[in-house]
Amino acid sequence: MRKLVLKEPYKLEMTTAEIPEPAENQVRIHVKKIGICGSDPTIYKGLHPYVSYPLVMGHELSGVIEKVGKNVSPDRVGERVAVIPHIVCHECDACKKGIYNFCETLKCTGAEADGAHCDYFCIEAEMAVKIPDEMSLEEAAMVEPACVAYHGAKRGHIEPGETVLVVGAGPIGLFCMQSCFALGAGKVFVADMDKNRLELAKKLGATGTIAVGEENLKEGLTRYLGSEKKVDVFYDCVGEKGIVFNNILEIARRGTRIVVIGVLQNAYNVPLLPDFVQHELSVSGTTMYVPQDYVEMIDLMGKKQIRTEGMVSQHITLEEIPQMLEDIVNRRVQTYKVIVDVNE
Ligand SMILES: [Zn+2]
Ligand SMILES: [Zn+2]
Repeated sequence: MRKLVLKEPYKLEMTTAEIPEPAENQVRIHVKKIGICGSDPTIYKGLHPYVSYPLVMGHELSGVIEKVGKNVSPDRVGERVAVIPHIVCHECDACKKGIYNFCETLKCTGAEADGAHCDYFCIEAEMAVKIPDEMSLEEAAMVEPACVAYHGAKRGHIEPGETVLVVGAGPIGLFCMQSCFALGAGKVFVADMDKNRLELAKKLGATGTIAVGEENLKEGLTRYLGSEKKVDVFYDCVGEKGIVFNNILEIARRGTRIVVIGVLQNAYNVPLLPDFVQHELSVSGTTMYVPQDYVEMIDLMGKKQIRTEGMVSQHITLEEIPQMLEDIVNRRVQTYKVIVDVNE
């Protein structure tokens, strides 16, 4: 089978490998679709803190089960699945409660263990989650990033009818916006610098959009709501140097909740920490998802309550991944969600 190996940063090589045999608790998946993640260029450049080389990337995948290990029901052969890219110990306190994202020895395939940039991929049967007939394999490959957003959205503890602002209209931001509605929000606004992304936000149901660059968050919120103080929960889907987070701290009403879903860079401090304390704000972190999020997200996507229309910007083949990553890191291409058609 084909297997794309990142031998060292910037060096992806297509190799030929034996088709892997599933271990007793595993299934073998014929890989169908893989999404390129925002973290993939970071891994490709050698800047991801937990990665060692050589590595097979690819953690947003869907496929069809085509062989099972001896402890797995043979009825599962032929099942179409979305994959939780986690290897867990099943023995630590977190694992015993099913909180796999807190497993003490958690490894994410595609980053800390080999991922799915190949034709066949083996993973524990529990991590292959069945999708309904009405869901496409392309949508199934987007369940992983959708769950990052959905798990983060839950961390805001939205009450029915509340008003939300999501900053950042990339795939995670727009899955977050839709997740907030699914969790009961009444109004969800989206802010971003990119107007095309805001157009997509509107098509997918945003109550209103704020084009940062033309107006700031306070002006945009005042235009829609009469005051920036009407927002109950903020989501920072940008992270990075913390500029968005600070902007949120400047305008947040007392008692507001803030969830940071974007990845904050290391050397960041919070100049507004005294305000943060005096205004009784809450900040939540979030990391990945738990299996229950997959079950709920697959249901929400199946019912079209969470949609992916307009999100896929390019389709490529497994062979075209190296060129696409080069183009992304050199900013030669505009992408939203790139889908790799591994096998038809
Ligand atoms: Zn990802
Ligand atoms: Zn564990």
